[in-house]
Amino acid sequence: MHFENLNLIPQLLKALKEAGYRQPTPIQMQAIPHLLQGRDLFGCAQTGTGKTAAFSIPLLQKLAEDYKKTGHVIRGLVLAPTRELASQIGDSLRTYGRHLSLQHAVIYGGVPQQQQTAALRAGVDILIATPGRLLDLIQQGYISLQYIMVVVLDEADRMLDMGFIHDIQKIIAMLPARRQTVLFSATLPSSIRRLAFNTLSNPVHIELSSQQQYAENVKHSLYFVDRVNKHHLLHHILDQDSPDRVLVFTRTRHGADKLVKALDREGIRSAALHGNKSQSQRQRTLHAFKGKKLRVLIATDVASRGIDVEHISHVINFDMPETPETYVHRIGRTGRAGAHGLALSFCSGDELHLLKDIHKHLRATIPVVTDHPFQSEKTTKQHLYGAGKNQRKRYSHTSHTKYSRNSPSSR
Ligand code: AMP
Repeated sequence: MHFENLNLIPQLLKALKEAGYRQPTPIQMQAIPHLLQGRDLFGCAQTGTGKTAAFSIPLLQKLAEDYKKTGHVIRGLVLAPTRELASQIGDSLRTYGRHLSLQHAVIYGGVPQQQQTAALRAGVDILIATPGRLLDLIQQGYISLQYIMVVVLDEADRMLDMGFIHDIQKIIAMLPARRQTVLFSATLPSSIRRLAFNTLSNPVHIELSSQQQYAENVKHSLYFVDRVNKHHLLHHILDQDSPDRVLVFTRTRHGADKLVKALDREGIRSAALHGNKSQSQRQRTLHAFKGKKLRVLIATDVASRGIDVEHISHVINFDMPETPETYVHRIGRTGRAGAHGLALSFCSGDELHLLKDIHKHLRATIPVVTDHPFQSEKTTKQHLYGAGKNQRKRYSHTSHTKYSRNSPSSR
């Protein structure tokens, strides 16, 4: 399948070619034809699958066809959870729309509004916004949503996690009833299903299979290790791989602080990001991490929601995630923008039940790494005795990395 088969206008085909895109990704193949026909869409896909182009290309095409009639009027709205994601979407729209006359603006909070209001005054066709600043500028009279034709809720689950549900509801209530609505979410908790039910009209539902969902460029691996040895294993991996941007997840704030101290004792500088830190401390830490002055960032799940850092090479589950959805979110932080990423999970005996849930959700088993000095025989056995006969056989002779046939990274 080629972009030429998707009925795209020549200006878009040219821009995609110039961007080096040779063929559509699965989500693009599935979504673009429906979106061009004006259907609502509910897409379950995470970052790295090409979902931004999947909604941006039809959005640009639709508005380009309409532009001759209207001039610059806000007709496309993309809501995103963070400033970083909003800016990335803006960059994508610039790339794909470079041969069109459409204007876009990106607005988000935490910065003065003058530049944003100046862009709005100059005339905008597509607005990319975080919910809070959007409402703020609507209330100040800078923005009207009455001509919106297409609205996209990107990473909707993250927006809900970040507490934007009321803002989103208010924004939706201001939109014209006749519109196209697109909702993307990496996970499908009941709150997302409810939001979809209330905002979409007869949507096409696209859910990538786990095979397509987990980016090919992310290699997943699993380490069975006793809890007391986890920080030694982390040290070992940091020494061995010398990665330059590692995001380590712990379950609790206390665990994050403890790990910073343990690594410090071993001569490794790291910093923790969690809810007990002040806003300015968090910003300093993130700045150092983005600037590669800090290699290792240790975060809790809640604190990590605002992190949008490109090119994280390693995501390490120091503590196993409490839910499979959290696994998906954590892993989504690596392998972005086509880069290669590693997702390492440290699993101790008391966490095997969490691993089981993740395997069930992935419909695949994560390959086990055994050639490291902190392999826990006890946990490995515990895992194997709970597993089926074939699996027991498969792992029983391992002394090196074993890939199970149906594993995310062997794809
Ligand atoms: P996304 O999932 O939207 O964050 O996209 C992930 C990355 O894949 C971005 O860097 C895109 O530029 C890139 N990308 C998206 N679609 C394609 C495609 N069809 N061919 C090559 N790269 C793509």
